[in-house]
Amino acid sequence: MNMEAYLKEEYEWFHTHPELSYEEEATTEHIRSVLKRAGVRLAEYPLKTGLVAEIGAGEPIVALRTDIDALPVEEHTDLPHASKHKGKMHACGHDFHMAAVLGATLLLKEQEKKLRGTVRLIFQPAEEAPGGARVVMDTGALEGIRAIFGFHVVPFVEKGTLGIKEGAVTAGVDRFVLRFRGKGTHAAAPDAGLDAIPVASEFVLAAQNIVSRRVSPFSPAVVSVTHLEAGNTWNVIPETALVEGTTRTMGREDRALVREALCTLAEHIAKAHGLTVEIDWHEGPPATANETDCIALARRVAERKGIPWVTPPGWMAGEDFAYYQEKYKGAFLLVSTGDTVANHNPKFHADEGAILPTAEYLAELMTEALREL
Ligand SMILES: [Zn+2]
Ligand SMILES: [Zn+2]
Repeated sequence: MNMEAYLKEEYEWFHTHPELSYEEEATTEHIRSVLKRAGVRLAEYPLKTGLVAEIGAGEPIVALRTDIDALPVEEHTDLPHASKHKGKMHACGHDFHMAAVLGATLLLKEQEKKLRGTVRLIFQPAEEAPGGARVVMDTGALEGIRAIFGFHVVPFVEKGTLGIKEGAVTAGVDRFVLRFRGKGTHAAAPDAGLDAIPVASEFVLAAQNIVSRRVSPFSPAVVSVTHLEAGNTWNVIPETALVEGTTRTMGREDRALVREALCTLAEHIAKAHGLTVEIDWHEGPPATANETDCIALARRVAERKGIPWVTPPGWMAGEDFAYYQEKYKGAFLLVSTGDTVANHNPKFHADEGAILPTAEYLAELMTEALREL
């Protein structure tokens, strides 16, 4: 079987057998058996799911990362290789990532003797959890590397092109949970209580002013309230109102500004109406931070291979690859999925025709990274 047909088959296997974050056992076994069959050296790190392999020998070491987990999404495609696991789907394209990195691994293996150092392949669990990147780092699997590369399939980059952007390409992600607390009362006697519902509502509307009035218009930011909950009937004013949501920013300063502004707003709106608010803030990954020399290399390799590249707009999704970049230099690239719906949609499907070109590109990128970085 030729490489293209083989990689499609691997992709389809992954797509048919999606597993959620930290449950990627069959996926890990499958990757392990492919690597073993190809004679690729497995590196021993204490990972429950996911694995690390190496090609070549000695210094320098550069790393290539794919994520391996799927989402709790019920698939609604009519693909012959649709998910066999009910309520689970590779709706983010990590199946494509795995097939492309396996392809790159096999191509690198063919020219192992010519490599000027070591390529470390990171099959990372639980990108969606998130936190898999930190689990991998805690095992020491990244120690000694000079740079790390990763990528994601997205529909908004034109088919056949690569999105290669310096600086942040995905956003810093925070989650907030606010509980406005007042005093419950009869719906007919609001003055006998402290109604949390109008206060939470005021906050929801005012929160949008943070993006439009506080953050620079040249700097992308998002505040989304995604979950509101208060009361359970028509004639009781409830004691509390819950407001949950997320913020997305592209830099450290904006991230701190949005957090500070949002918390101040919640506290002061609550106070103005005699209520209190409890704030739970959950920090997700920061924005990715693509290094200039890694980006220049990625562009040069694309040009040499005749693959057009664009500077994509940022993507306000989060990516735990950014944790690697807090410690190591690297670049996170965007690969076109072709014409499809957004990632995480139950009808999402990646362009299988792009798997082999992506694998070939990644193999060359790693080879050149060993020479040039
Ligand atoms: Zn995702
Ligand atoms: Zn993803």
